[in-house]
Amino acid sequence: MDWTEQQIEQLRALWAEGLSTAEIGRRMGISKNAVVGKAHRLNLPSRPSPIRRSAKPASPRPATVPRAVSAAVAAAAVVTPLTPRPSAPPPPPRPAPRLGNTACCWPIGEPGKTGFRFCDAPALYGKPYCAEHAAQAYVRAKADRQGQESAA
Ligand SMILES: [Zn+2]
Repeated sequence: MDWTEQQIEQLRALWAEGLSTAEIGRRMGISKNAVVGKAHRLNLPSRPSPIRRSAKPASPRPATVPRAVSAAVAAAAVVTPLTPRPSAPPPPPRPAPRLGNTACCWPIGEPGKTGFRFCDAPALYGKPYCAEHAAQAYVRAKADRQGQESAA
């Protein structure tokens, strides 16, 4: 066929986009062989064929996988998460994580004097005090409120 300058430029542009020779031919309304032959004469740089690019091992196309293999893969994909792996034993039991303090911080005695200490009994979940001192703290807060109300 006779190539016009315009067609050659179009071929160069489409070639640079990495389109397949068949696609270039389709867009230009010419045969794939004409595209290949002209590209060869123009010394256009060779490029990875689109077929080889899409056939990377990392992304096999399902259509190319034999039926039996794809069925096995599908079955394995379904079964695997449900099957406990013997090589991964369950983690050893650990104490339940607590929020905040793990020991009662209720002060016992006079701060700064001998014998002063904190209660140190296991604190209630999410509270700074053990059950006994949490109850005392509640009573004390209630008494403070009542004292303020009667004083007002
Ligand atoms: Zn306590």
